[in-house]
Amino acid sequence: MKIAARFLTVALLLAPSMAKAQLMPDADVLDQLKYDVKYLASDLLEGRETGTEGERMAVEYIAAKFGNVGLMPYGNKASYLQTFTFKAEPVLGTANTLQVGRKRVKVNEDFAPMPFSAAGSALGKIYKVGYGILAPDLNHDDYGEVSLAGRIAAIAISSPDGIHPHSKYIAHHDLFARAEHAIAKGAIGILFYNDDPQAEDPTLKLSPKAPVLSVPAVFLTNKQLQEHVIDNNPCAINVDIVREERTGTNVVGLLDNGKPNVVVIGAHLDHLGWGDEGSLHRGERAIHNGADDNASGVAVLMQLARDLAEMDEARANDYLFIAFSGEEKGLYGSNFWTKHPTLPIAELNYMINLDMVGRLDSSGAIGINGVGTSPAWEEVSRVLVGDLKVRTTTSGIGPSDHTSFYLQDVPAIHFFTGTHADYHKPSDDEEKINYDGMFRITRYIESLITSLNDDGKVPFTKTEEVNTENTPRFKVTLGVVPDYLYDGKGMRIDGVTDGKPAANAGLRKGDVVIAIGALPVTDMMGYMKALGQFNKGDNAAVKVLREGKEEVVQVTF
Ligand SMILES: [Zn+2]
Repeated sequence: MKIAARFLTVALLLAPSMAKAQLMPDADVLDQLKYDVKYLASDLLEGRETGTEGERMAVEYIAAKFGNVGLMPYGNKASYLQTFTFKAEPVLGTANTLQVGRKRVKVNEDFAPMPFSAAGSALGKIYKVGYGILAPDLNHDDYGEVSLAGRIAAIAISSPDGIHPHSKYIAHHDLFARAEHAIAKGAIGILFYNDDPQAEDPTLKLSPKAPVLSVPAVFLTNKQLQEHVIDNNPCAINVDIVREERTGTNVVGLLDNGKPNVVVIGAHLDHLGWGDEGSLHRGERAIHNGADDNASGVAVLMQLARDLAEMDEARANDYLFIAFSGEEKGLYGSNFWTKHPTLPIAELNYMINLDMVGRLDSSGAIGINGVGTSPAWEEVSRVLVGDLKVRTTTSGIGPSDHTSFYLQDVPAIHFFTGTHADYHKPSDDEEKINYDGMFRITRYIESLITSLNDDGKVPFTKTEEVNTENTPRFKVTLGVVPDYLYDGKGMRIDGVTDGKPAANAGLRKGDVVIAIGALPVTDMMGYMKALGQFNKGDNAAVKVLREGKEEVVQVTF
C-alpha cells in the first residue's frame, strides 16, 4: 500500500490522466505474489488444516493484509473473522475395554467400537436377539415381547437370508437401525458379532458424519470369542471415542465504493495439514503445503484487493473478499457464509472463485468453470490479456466454493489452471508455482471485472449438470447436491438439478431424505449405499422430511 501510494503521487505529477499508473508495478506484483505463496505454503503453517494453529496463522496473515488495503471488516463483531463449528474426525481414546463372561478381550485385536457407538460404558447380562431385525412388512420379529431392560443386546450382523443385494430383508440390514430397535426395547449396550461366513464384517472406520447411538456398541472382530456370547453371560463394555467440535475461520473484508452491487471474490485458505481425509499421499505422515491448492488462489485474491482498491475503472461495484476455511473438508466455510451471510445475498452481483491458479502451463490455458451461471459470462472469451487461452465448462456445481454461491442463485465462476501429479500430495510445493501465470490471471480478472461494468447486475441462470454425485460407480443419480454441513439424521438437499430425477419428482432444496425405496438413509454413507441399489429406469419411493413433516414422492431414475 505504501508503494502504491508513492507511485500514485509520481503518477499524478507526471501523467494525471493515466488511471492504470496507480497500480503496483508489475515487478512488485510478482514479488508480492511470491512472498504471499511462500509464507502460506511454508512448513511453519503445517498445511493450514481447518481448526489447527496453521489455519489460525493463515487467517491472521490474510486479515492483516486486508487491513493494509483498507477493506472494511465484514466478518462477525466488526472484525474480519467469521467462525463456524464443525465435527472433527473422531478418534479412539485409550480406554476401550470389553469383557465377556470371564474373557477379557483386546481392543483392535478382538473387538472394536462401532463408528456409531456412544462414548460410555454398560454393564449387564447378554441377551441374544438373533439378527435384531424388526420387519413387520415381512412378518419377522426377532424381539417379540422380550424386555431388554438393563441387558446387553447381542446382534448377529447377517440376516435371515444372508447379506447380498437380493436379500428380501435388505431394507433391514442397516446396523444402526437394528441397534435402535434393541435400545427401544431397553438395551443398555450392543454387542455385534458375525457368525455368517458369507457376510462381510462391518466397516469400523470412524467418521464425523456417522450418526451416534445413545448407548455403547462394539463389534467382536475375533470370531473365536463368539462361544462366550451366551444368554445371561455378564458383559462389560467401555467405549472411548473422542468426538471434538472444532472451529474454522473465514476472513471477510469489503472494498466499499458505496455501490449497490457487490462482487464476491473468494479463495479457500485451508488445505490438508499433515494429510487429512482428502490426501492422495501414501506413506509417512508429511506436511501438505498446498502451494497451488490454494495458497495461489489466496495470493491472487489479495492482489486483486490491492489493485481494485486503486483502479478508477473498478468503482462500479463494491467487492467482498472472502478467504474461506473448511473447503477441503466439504466446502464448510463457503456453505456457512452463504447460510449466514454478512451482507444480504440479494445485493450480490456475481462471484469469482480462485482455487488452484498457480500452475498455468506453457499452453497458457486457463480453465473457467461455471460459465453457464449467467449469459454475462460470454464476456470471458472476449477479454484479451496476453495469450491466455480460455477453456470453459458450464456447470455451476463443482468441487469448490463457487458451488455454495451458485446454490444461492448467484452467478459464479471458478478459475483453475488444472490438476497435476502433485494434487493433494506433500509435493504441491512453492517452487513449482508459475508466478508469471498468476500475474496474467490477476490482470485477466481485472479486465473481466471492468468489462462487465456496464452490465449492471448480471442475470443468473441455472446450469445443466452432468453427474452431481460425481462417482462413476453409480448407475443412477438423483440429481441433488447434498448439504455436507448438515449433521442431523438423513441427507439434506442443498440444491436440485433441473431435469434430473429429484427435480422431476418435486424434491426441493431443504428436504431431508430419510429413505430411498426400502432403504433407510441415516447419513451420507447410507445415501450412497441406497443409490447403489438402483438401475436406470427403476422407480423408488423417496421419503423426505419437509419442514419437519414426512412426505413420500415417487422418483424415476
Ligand atoms: Zn482447493
